[in-house]
Amino acid sequence: MKVLVVGGAGYIGSHVVLELQQAGHDVYVLDNLQTGHREAVATAPFFPGDIADNELLSRLISEHRIEAAVHLAADSTVGLSMQDPGIFFNNNVGKGALFLDTLVKTGVKILVFSSSAAVYGSPDNMPIKESHPLNPVNVYGSTKIMFEEMMHWYEKIYGLRWMALRYFNAAGAAPGYGIGEDHNPETHLIPIILQTILGQRQELQIFGNDYPTPDGTCIRDYIHVADLSRAHVLGLEALSAGEAGGVYNLGNGQGFSVREVVRVCEAVTGQKIAAGISPRRFGDPPVLVASAEKIKSELGWVPQYPDLESIAASAWEWHRLNPNGFNKQL
Ligand code: UDP
Repeated sequence: MKVLVVGGAGYIGSHVVLELQQAGHDVYVLDNLQTGHREAVATAPFFPGDIADNELLSRLISEHRIEAAVHLAADSTVGLSMQDPGIFFNNNVGKGALFLDTLVKTGVKILVFSSSAAVYGSPDNMPIKESHPLNPVNVYGSTKIMFEEMMHWYEKIYGLRWMALRYFNAAGAAPGYGIGEDHNPETHLIPIILQTILGQRQELQIFGNDYPTPDGTCIRDYIHVADLSRAHVLGLEALSAGEAGGVYNLGNGQGFSVREVVRVCEAVTGQKIAAGISPRRFGDPPVLVASAEKIKSELGWVPQYPDLESIAASAWEWHRLNPNGFNKQL
């Protein structure tokens, strides 16, 4: 299939590009490089630009006979969404709507969308199923629901075939292919631990040790970015084969506390880190663990790296080889 990946220069997007290519698809990338890295797209045609640029998008779709799209071009810093919600409504919803409209009106009716566990908010019962009520506790999660709803209406009105993949905590890398996690500023736990091990930070700050969990720190479900990316390939192939789309969780169904993640990273790297305790981070639910049974049974998704050691080892390899991320000059 000829697939357009918007946001393909980002952390998850670049891994999705890799998995699609390895599955034999023809991939094209559109990214405005607001947070993505040009260097992360070494093997696919790259088009700098915005998803809201109707003219560019239409030209690209018709010139390359694009048949399907993956949408990962959204703002994703949860904290920022609560400081400046307008950015998120403009980019994730407003520009997203323009993008979706151009897609269907140029005849592209297969779309896999990067959604998030943030749509569920702070659930009481684990593991979280797709049928769990949606109750986001931040603007970011709310914008993901809004885009899912737009796809629902575009299905009814234009026959869009869509799938929303609700990611839990993506981590790890494909260092052998020169891609990995490089956010600026970095806010995610595993890269921050590894940067501390590399001496780039003095210590890790654990956000809260008074949660109702066994060791008092938050529990999350970490998923290898390669496994997550492969689900996009399965999704596109299922949609193009005429199967029903809809929403799917993506996680491993196993939770690790912040302290457990620290211990695994210490074991993988053979080094200890200093960790201090900071106040809770606003909007952090105590526990988030996915039920990914639906994608396993319906799409045959099987994670290849379900253990946290493999996830952390691949992230460590990337950080060790690229301590300054894509910016080798620093
Ligand atoms: N966390 C932490 N210190 C950090 C970064 C993250 O204690 O410097 C915690 C955070 O509060 C959450 C977990 O690690 O409980 C995972 O956070 P991350 O930002 O990686 O992902 P999120 O769950 O917010 O999507």
